[in-house]
Formats: sequence, structure tokens, C-alpha cells
Amino acid sequence: MKHCNSEKLFEEAQKYIPGGVNSPVRAFRSVGLNPIFIEKGKGCKIKDVDGNEYIDYICSWGPLMLGHSNEELLEGIEEVVSKGTSFGVPTEIEVKMAKFIVEAYPSVDMVRMVNSGTEATMSALRVARGYTNRNKIVKFEGCYHGHSDALLVKSGSGTITFGVPTSPGVPADTVKDTLVCRYNDMESVKEVFQKYGDDIAAVIVEPVGGNMGVVPGKKEFLQGLRDITKEYGAVLIFDEVITGFRIAFGGAQEVYGIEPDMTCFGKIIGAGLPVGAYGGKKEIMEMVSPVGPVYQAGTLSGNPLAMHMGYKNLNILKNNKHIYDELEQKAIKLEKGINENIKKLGIKATVVRFKAMLCLFLAEGPFDNFQEVMKCDTEKYAVYFKEMLDRGILLPPAQFEAMFLSAAHGDEELEYTIKCNYEALKVAFQK
Ligand SMILES: *Cc1c(COP(=O)(O)O)cnc(C)c1O
Repeated sequence: MKHCNSEKLFEEAQKYIPGGVNSPVRAFRSVGLNPIFIEKGKGCKIKDVDGNEYIDYICSWGPLMLGHSNEELLEGIEEVVSKGTSFGVPTEIEVKMAKFIVEAYPSVDMVRMVNSGTEATMSALRVARGYTNRNKIVKFEGCYHGHSDALLVKSGSGTITFGVPTSPGVPADTVKDTLVCRYNDMESVKEVFQKYGDDIAAVIVEPVGGNMGVVPGKKEFLQGLRDITKEYGAVLIFDEVITGFRIAFGGAQEVYGIEPDMTCFGKIIGAGLPVGAYGGKKEIMEMVSPVGPVYQAGTLSGNPLAMHMGYKNLNILKNNKHIYDELEQKAIKLEKGINENIKKLGIKATVVRFKAMLCLFLAEGPFDNFQEVMKCDTEKYAVYFKEMLDRGILLPPAQFEAMFLSAAHGDEELEYTIKCNYEALKVAFQK
């Protein structure tokens, strides 16, 4: 497979963009390669600038539930564009979008649109702090909530600690109010609440961890978070930027039957355009300016083009809920096929699947938290990734990311993927 045009673009890109990419994972560094540049996508396939075609398991990291360039989704979009792309004053589609989300999520009485998942979580935390008049927040190691300062933390030494910044440029003072607990470990949460409970504004969690591979939250854990936040008067925030409208129409909160106080959305609700949203109980959301005193704004928030695409995407999903079952069936098919390959090869690897979220960990489980996930063999993953790429399959270019499926992935592609998976694992584990 030739990548000359991608290589040329990458060389040029590195002169003008740090690392040649606008988001680090795209640089393919953790698999030791250079990125491929994409020309176009259709259905479950994408074509790079060298004419190579791939079955795509990134799907823009989740937004593309219907696959690339879905005709129904794109129909009429020119007309929307022709009317103007941004006004800075309200449009009807913003109302429709908000009403749609509120009707789809019983825990959400009101919602505010933003432009990314990062903005959604950052704003939700500000509102929760304003609402409770408290400072501290609790997050979990391995959960990703975008790149706002207060959330770029990992736990320091010891089991319960104040977070330490994971990036230069984040002052230690900025994260001193971020407490980091262990995912799926209620004891670590109880400890911080016993110590700091009266000053904890919010607990933010990915109900299904999707940024450390796939690590589903245990039901008792999420219920435990619901109970303890209620007991202490803290706000429970579900970051459903991946899971919302993806693992089920009603997101993880529907699957687990647990209602958070606030929810963050992103990815899927924009259908590939830059969108995020945060919402929750009325009395909390009424803290937001201009009703309340908590400031939050955005020049392009509720952008009409993005709203039209997102609204249409969500309506297609609502009217075709069989898509969710079908996506899960596809994930099960991959899970089964890959598990058979693992058995045949006698290697140490584990498929973790939750609904249609899927990850192949190159180590033996269990995988309940960040530390356990870190056992994986990232060097073998790099070999595996390259072998798959050479066979025309684009996986997430990092071990600790979820694979994403779309309605456009068909049996034939899944079977081909399973066949290649066998060959690629064989090579990876011989090295
Ligand atoms: C992707 C993601 C974010 C950040 O969203 P951006 O649009 O990239 O800023 C936040 N939370 C979760 C769970 C995500 O997967």
C-alpha cells in the first residue's frame, strides 16, 4: 500500500501545524506511523489521498452513527447553507434541537448548546460549582472530559489525592480542587467524600469509560455515585459525549436506569459538525446566564448549520431505533469472531464490549479501571494496527481508544475484518 501523497502532505503539515495535526491522536504516533490523509468517505469506507480504501472503525470518534456522507442526512443541506450559516441571533432550529434533547432525556429539563465536548464539560462544572457554591470536583482516572485545565489531571501518589496536572501549562493551583478517584471503586469515592464532602460541587464521570479503551462502569458503582452525591448535595454529571444517543437512544442513563443531575453531550448530536451541549435539572440550568449569574457564552453556539445536521441525525435515529439493536449485533459479531481468533492463536488478548462499544485489549483482563488497562502491550498493538491498515482496515491509532461502528458497516465488511484480525494478531504476537 502506497502512502506517497499522505507522506508529502504530512511533511508540509508539520511546517505549519504542531505535529502536522489538529488533534494529537491523529498523528499516529502511538502506533509509530505517519498519518494517512483522507480524501472522502462513503458509508463505512474512507479513501485516502493515495487512493487506498479502508473500512473505517474510527467514524470521526463516534459522531457518524449513519456512516460517512449518508444521503438522507445530507439531503437538503445545500438549501440550509444557502440561507446563511451563522447569525449571532436566535434561530428556530435551536429551539427544535433543545426540545428534542429534553424530550429524549428525562433527566434533562433544559439544555445549552456549545461547540465541543470540552466546552460542555467545562461549562457544566462551572454551573455545578455556581449552583452548590462549592469548589471541589471529583473525576476518575482514565476518564477523559476534554482538555479544559481543571480536568487535565491524574492522581498523584497514594489512593486518594489531589490531582496533579497531566500537561505543562496547567498551573497546580488550577487543579488543586480536582480530586481524582479510581474508576469502578466506590471505596475511593467514599473516602474523598468523608474528607471533603461539604466542599464537593460535582462528580463527573463517563458512565461507560470510552477513552481508556472501553471500560464499562459497574451498575453498583454508578448507583453508588448517585447515592453519595444525593447524600452530600453534590451534582452528579454524566459525561455522555460518546454514549449519548450512541449506546442507546437514551444514552447510558437509559441503559443503567440511573438519572444524573446534569448531562454532557457532543459527538453524535453534531453528526460530524462541531457541537456540544450540557443540560440538566431546571433549577441547576437556571443558574446559567442570562437567567442566572453563571456566565457561559459562544459566538457560534447553536450554529444553524450544525443544528440542522444534528437535528436531522437525531430524528433519523429516533425513527429508526432498530439501528441500535443492529449496531449491537454487529459489535457482538466482531466480539465473537475476534474471541475465536484469540482462542485459535492461544494469545493473551481480551475483547471488551458494552452495547456497540468495543475494544480489543492486548492483555488478559479484568479491565475495570485505568491501572488494569495499562497492562496492555502497546507495542504489539502498533504491529497489529499496521497489519490491519495494510489490509484496508482503519482502527483507532492507539490501544486505549474504542472502535466505532456505524449503521453502514455490513456483514461482508465485518467478516473481512475478522479474517484480517486473525492474520494481524498472528503477526503481532510472533514479533
Ligand atoms: C470526545 C470527548 C470529550 C471532548 O469532546 P471534544 O468535542 O473533543 O472537545 C469529552 N468527553 C468525552 C467522554 C469524550 O469522549
